[in-house]
Amino acid sequence: MTARADPLLDALSGLPPGALRLGADVGAGHARDMSMTPGVLLRPGSTAEVALMLAACNDLRRPVVVQGGRTGLAGGASPREGEVALSLERMRDLTEADPLTSTIIAEAGVTLQRVQEAASAGGLRLAIDIGSRGSATIGGVIACNAGGIRVISHGMMRQHVLGLEAVLADGTILSRLGTLVKDNTGTDLKHLFIGTEGTLGVVTRAVLALSPEPADLAMAYCALGRLVDARGVLQSLQARFGRRLSAFEFIEARVHAAACAFGAVSPVPEGQGPTP
Ligand SMILES: Cc1cc2nc3c(=O)[nH]c(=O)nc-3n(C[C@H](O)[C@H](O)[C@H](O)COP(=O)(O)OP(=O)(O)OC[C@H]3O[C@@H](n4cnc5c(N)ncnc54)[C@H](O)[C@@H]3O)c2cc1C
Repeated sequence: MTARADPLLDALSGLPPGALRLGADVGAGHARDMSMTPGVLLRPGSTAEVALMLAACNDLRRPVVVQGGRTGLAGGASPREGEVALSLERMRDLTEADPLTSTIIAEAGVTLQRVQEAASAGGLRLAIDIGSRGSATIGGVIACNAGGIRVISHGMMRQHVLGLEAVLADGTILSRLGTLVKDNTGTDLKHLFIGTEGTLGVVTRAVLALSPEPADLAMAYCALGRLVDARGVLQSLQARFGRRLSAFEFIEARVHAAACAFGAVSPVPEGQGPTP
């Protein structure tokens, strides 16, 4: 179908500039690995525009793939033949951290790192951290229910979402942006959108729970001879520190070597390298 003959473009003709890209203007970055560059890229700037776009796609039975930072490793953001891509890259509003409720409200396209930095500026932190923090978006992290290096003490992303706004495939907006930890006013629908990778709706905004920055942090870097020893180290640290052990990560020898070559970490002394 040529762009001109596409009825979706007629349905969305009232969109503001920048909200829609076609053909070569889409950019190869919106493809992933072996997937194809989508012919139509929708770039909503607001929840209302997400609703308008999804309703139009739904009416025309056009399949949609939702894209955040496109760092996911399972291919969920990779467009397939005939799919329209809907990227949250223009939805980047972020409030300041609220010290009274220990929360922050982020639109779906805000990167995890920006939220971490905003929380830190308020003396608080979002206790989720993953290597893709600089590109992964709040919408994507919620959609994947990401874990990361602090998962053993702080749980997965689900534990940090207090309120959520999402748009269903027909354009219906569901909004429950409460900031309360204790909220048992009816069915908590937000859980339908956490970890379901956009299959049940598009996450547009979230209220995230923050916690105080720890007063002090200590890091131990252990070089082990065998993988099985990592479990023993973890168990003894947990026995000693309980929930104060905030993060734990195992690094394979080849990954460690690559990080050293890149200059990101220091090599361990000769003969004491990590598990092959
Ligand atoms: C270096 C690196 C380290 C990582 N480390 C970890 C880790 O330690 N733990 C861990 O759990 N994961 C890890 N990940 C994967 C991690 O889950 C993703 O990076 C991140 O959660 C995806 O966010 P994204 O914005 O890039 O989403 P995308 O990759 O764009 O999308 C991921 C999925 O979510 C859907 N989606 C995106 N945005 C929305 C939205 N607004 N509404 C609904 N659906 C949406 C997409 O359709 C797709 O199915 C890592 C990835 C990398 C590259």
